[in-house]
Amino acid sequence: MTRDDSDADVDPDADPELLRGAREAVVEHAPALAELTPARTGNLSVRDGDRVAVTPTGVPYDSFDAADVPVVSLDGARLAGRMAPSSEVPMHTGIYQHDRPGAIVHTHSPWATTMATLGRKLPPVHYMIAAVGREVPLADYAPYGTEELAANVVAAMAEADSDAAILANHGLVVTGPDVETAVENTRHVEDICRLYLRASAVGEPHVLSDEQMAAVEERFESYGQQPDAE
Ligand code: 13P
Ligand code: ZN
Repeated sequence: MTRDDSDADVDPDADPELLRGAREAVVEHAPALAELTPARTGNLSVRDGDRVAVTPTGVPYDSFDAADVPVVSLDGARLAGRMAPSSEVPMHTGIYQHDRPGAIVHTHSPWATTMATLGRKLPPVHYMIAAVGREVPLADYAPYGTEELAANVVAAMAEADSDAAILANHGLVVTGPDVETAVENTRHVEDICRLYLRASAVGEPHVLSDEQMAAVEERFESYGQQPDAE
């Protein structure tokens, strides 16, 4: 296991209690990344106020504990954690600065990444896309880990008013109010990419209209178990 204690910014044992809940959530949910994608690709983060707990860079997702999990500020400064943070911190902090979601998942899951290699956005071919928006836009390519990629992703999500983006020639990013929702919606987007690509192999997938998507959004407001009406 690599522990990074070379960075002068952070005392490797700095405040092990800082963002304890968010760091434990990172440990608990990081293994979902391994189910979504082969090898050590992807990362996730959980925000607590103006600080973020994020997966460490370049390590298997079941190989660290809460004290290892890096904590960074929204301008990317390292505050705590024995391991060095994900190379995609600029993308995570860029999205949080723009939109303040509770959590972010980034993956190279195979179907979304197939869309990414084709340079295609995901249109509303299944109503469940409403979990993230009316489409999943395509963010322009930039090298991984760069401010340029972060800016491209923020711009694509803002323009499409979507909680997700396909990163050209790279993968997928999905945000949510909490890490459970972000992981679940990542699975939804991956699944709809799969449906879209398989349907495209046979014919032209039918795309839902804005009116049809508006009706779905309205129904989503009251979907699921509701508190008993008095
Ligand atoms: P990290 O291991 O640094 O999080 O990088 C993985 C990745 O997906 C880069 O885009
Ligand atoms: Zn990546």
